[in-house]
Amino acid sequence: MEELQKFLNDKGLAVSTLPQKGRCLFTTRDFSPGEVIISQIPYVAVPNKNKESPESKCEWCFSSNTLKACSACRVVWYCSSNCQKSDWKFHRIECRTLSKVDKERVKLLTPSVRLMVKLCIRRKLEIEKIFPATVADNYKHVDALVSHMSEVEEKQLILYAQMANLVNLILQWPDSDINIKEIAENFSKLACNAHTICDSELRPLGTGLYPVISIINHSCLPNSVLVFEERLAVVRAMQYIPKGTEVTISYVEIAGSTITRQKSLKEQYFFTCSCPRCIKLGQSEDIQESAILEGYSCKESECDGFLLRDSDNKGFVCQKCGLIRDKEEISAIANEVKYISDKASKSLSSGYKIEANEAYKRIEALQLKLYHPFSIFLMRTREALLKISMDQQDWKEALSYCRLTIPIYERVYPKCHPLLGLQYYMCGKLEWFLGETVAAVRSMTKGLDVLGITHGTKTPFVMELTSKLEEARAEASYTQRR
Ligand SMILES: [Zn+2]
Ligand SMILES: [Zn+2]
Ligand SMILES: [Zn+2]
Ligand SMILES: [Zn+2]
Repeated sequence: MEELQKFLNDKGLAVSTLPQKGRCLFTTRDFSPGEVIISQIPYVAVPNKNKESPESKCEWCFSSNTLKACSACRVVWYCSSNCQKSDWKFHRIECRTLSKVDKERVKLLTPSVRLMVKLCIRRKLEIEKIFPATVADNYKHVDALVSHMSEVEEKQLILYAQMANLVNLILQWPDSDINIKEIAENFSKLACNAHTICDSELRPLGTGLYPVISIINHSCLPNSVLVFEERLAVVRAMQYIPKGTEVTISYVEIAGSTITRQKSLKEQYFFTCSCPRCIKLGQSEDIQESAILEGYSCKESECDGFLLRDSDNKGFVCQKCGLIRDKEEISAIANEVKYISDKASKSLSSGYKIEANEAYKRIEALQLKLYHPFSIFLMRTREALLKISMDQQDWKEALSYCRLTIPIYERVYPKCHPLLGLQYYMCGKLEWFLGETVAAVRSMTKGLDVLGITHGTKTPFVMELTSKLEEARAEASYTQRR
């Protein structure tokens, strides 16, 4: 721990243990927006499985291009000999184990089982000094993670025990080298401490364990953001962070109401958030915001009031004009939405894009009658419609849905949130494509102002977006001169 303190101290950071929260990461100097607070390579990481194709992603960089299976085990895949070489020191050992697994059992190798096999191997290699422990990469940090075993449901515990048995069968180590109970506990640790590795556009690619980054706690109003550069996890300041502040990131989607956010934190991470947004739970400001994000709209379409349940529970009363919307009317529309939603997701998963598009449009129309214009549910429907129109290369329709999501994003995310930056940029790209060059330059600039902070101005991702913006700018000034 002392070694870790010194390591962090050199970076302007310190670990403290607070009674209510456990370990916390604090700043010991000021950080400016966009500055890297800490970065770490994974202790162990594994790519997601692709649903569409049998092969997964590159074991090292998570790319899906030009994959070739390791010829010995045929379980892991690489995009290039460079990636294979980078992974070889570790995979050499893993490969021997995986080659012995019979074909039927290979099918049971889910990413979480594979990650656990890797964790066991990594630990063994650390003991054998093949992968000597360093300050940041050290099994001690895995030991220090909280497992929440006493709070995990019985059903889940049984599942962890079964998975631990499977890991044991795969490893085939002598009994003295394996502790099934500890493996089961480590599954619980991974469930609340592993991070989802995403690409620059925040699409999930895999899972990794970054034990030092796991020290950072959650806030629904975070001052920092975790992004990935291939397998490297990078935490950047989203705002000015003065010395002596706790560094926070968000573990869950922060767009929902306080109750929704707290529910998902409790279910997955077993704690009750007490961030500056959550302590307002039950206060009038929070009740109003929740009613806008997840509640119903006024029956009078011109009225922008928010609705709360009335005292005798017959319906919902508009807090602005006093009109009552009765429960039956609301549940009739809600049931219809549910019915069409089921159909829509079925169409989408079977690849019937046109049917899905029509269904989501009907959902949008119904939700406009039901919810407030800033509704999260409406936002999700429009995100689905945006994705479908992008897939169908209907740029005009994509742009209109992209524009409709932006005001909601601006309300539900901090002004420097990567999702907001990506949405501005996508809007700009679509505008450019459709010949609205001046608007495109404006939107792309807004996007890059955010992404330069969250993703760093010197990363290949942001540099490419910047050069596209330069191109759009040149075109805009050319067309204006004409
Ligand atoms: Zn690769
Ligand atoms: Zn192999
Ligand atoms: Zn919170
Ligand atoms: Zn009203």
